[in-house]
Amino acid sequence: MQRQHIAVIGAGTAGLAAAIFLARQGHHITLIEQAPALTPMGAGILLQPSGLAVLDMLGLREKALQYGARVDTLYGDTAKGRVIMHTRYADLGLADQSHGVGIHRASLCHILDRALAPLPHKRLMNTRVDAVTEQGSGVRLTLHRDGITDILEADAVLIANGSSSQLRPPELVRYDRQYPWGALWTMQPRPDTLTEPALRQRYEGCHTMAGILPTGSTPAQPDAPLVSVFWSLPVADMPAWREGRVDLSAWRQQAETAWPDLAPLLAPLSSSRQLIPATYRDVIMRRWAQGRIGVIGDAAHAMSPQLGQGANMALADALALAQSLSGANDWPDAWATYHRLRTGPIRFYQRMSRALTPVFQSHSRSVALARDLSFPLMYSVPWLRKQMALTVSGLKTGLL
Ligand SMILES: Cc1cc2nc3c(=O)[nH]c(=O)nc-3n(C[C@H](O)[C@H](O)[C@H](O)COP(=O)(O)OP(=O)(O)OC[C@H]3O[C@@H](n4cnc5c(N)ncnc54)[C@H](O)[C@@H]3O)c2cc1C
Repeated sequence: MQRQHIAVIGAGTAGLAAAIFLARQGHHITLIEQAPALTPMGAGILLQPSGLAVLDMLGLREKALQYGARVDTLYGDTAKGRVIMHTRYADLGLADQSHGVGIHRASLCHILDRALAPLPHKRLMNTRVDAVTEQGSGVRLTLHRDGITDILEADAVLIANGSSSQLRPPELVRYDRQYPWGALWTMQPRPDTLTEPALRQRYEGCHTMAGILPTGSTPAQPDAPLVSVFWSLPVADMPAWREGRVDLSAWRQQAETAWPDLAPLLAPLSSSRQLIPATYRDVIMRRWAQGRIGVIGDAAHAMSPQLGQGANMALADALALAQSLSGANDWPDAWATYHRLRTGPIRFYQRMSRALTPVFQSHSRSVALARDLSFPLMYSVPWLRKQMALTVSGLKTGLL
């Protein structure tokens, strides 16, 4: 396609990666981000082999490894020692897909941002997009900055502004709701006792789940390795945590009884406000593009982090978009290719994520019992073990 002026809304994983690919193809990019700067917000993200492959194509795999922490295994058990999850990337039998990387969201954004910086593009920080409309052979964006409203016109727009996007064309949205459970998280220095290259989780029924993810370091403190600690929580309980109305010592005791490994990580906490609540959305769209408007990343297919796919799906979207545009004559042509490339993986991961979330985050006793009996059996069958590894790795394009 001829050189296009493409507005990209949101400088998260999806927006930054798409901007790099498309700027490299010679398109004129305007990246618009509501935050004043790319500050170190968020906690650890698990980069899967699928996401690492995209970073490889961007020439950024080594950078991700430099900041991140290698993860070879995903391991989850109960306090009684029953192993519920034991996925090893090595089960894939693929030398170049043999591990994931735990990385701080800030480091991933930093790596992508540094790659975009030298490419010709325009950036509008501290600028919120309030509306997107198609007009004639282009799009019109209503921008808001420091109390001033402005208009930006472009040939096309990519909406990459995350799970709570209000900019998705409503006629394309089939489903959009918040999950009833979220998580609390905190970042802590990685103790010498936790050097295993593994994401580890502890479960008690479906009502209790905690996780520890090696997260590497941040650009601000490259020599200080961190871990992200997650504690599953119903959204209804979050106001009490935010407002400091929780008995932190009682909770700490409960958490450490369920999982003694948490003790050194929770010891530095002095207020419940130091645990940051995160909620997730379940967003299903009929299609991800029409006319001159495309939707990518969490804005297009927000899901719970149960399968650790958010950033990887965003990177895969960006790559598919670049592939779709490179051979297309016009936008309908590009979107047809994009839908062909992305429909299988997006639908598969949305279904899996939906099905698995209550298995780890709900109050159901029967589901907990079924999980505790069936998951260990599943891992004893080599074919199913490999399917699980493929699923977690972000490499599945459909059920079979
Ligand atoms: C603050 C924050 C913390 C996160 N922490 C974690 C975490 O700890 N672990 C994890 O696995 N995932 C986390 N995520 C989600 C994770 O980043 C995504 O699942 C994944 O990286 C895909 O990213 P995305 O680019 O689609 O969306 P996001 O990463 O959500 O990026 C969207 C961007 O769009 C910007 N934006 C939103 N609305 C507008 C607007 N109207 N105009 C202009 N800009 C706008 C946002 O400021 C943001 O920078 C976090 C997301 C955010 C925003």
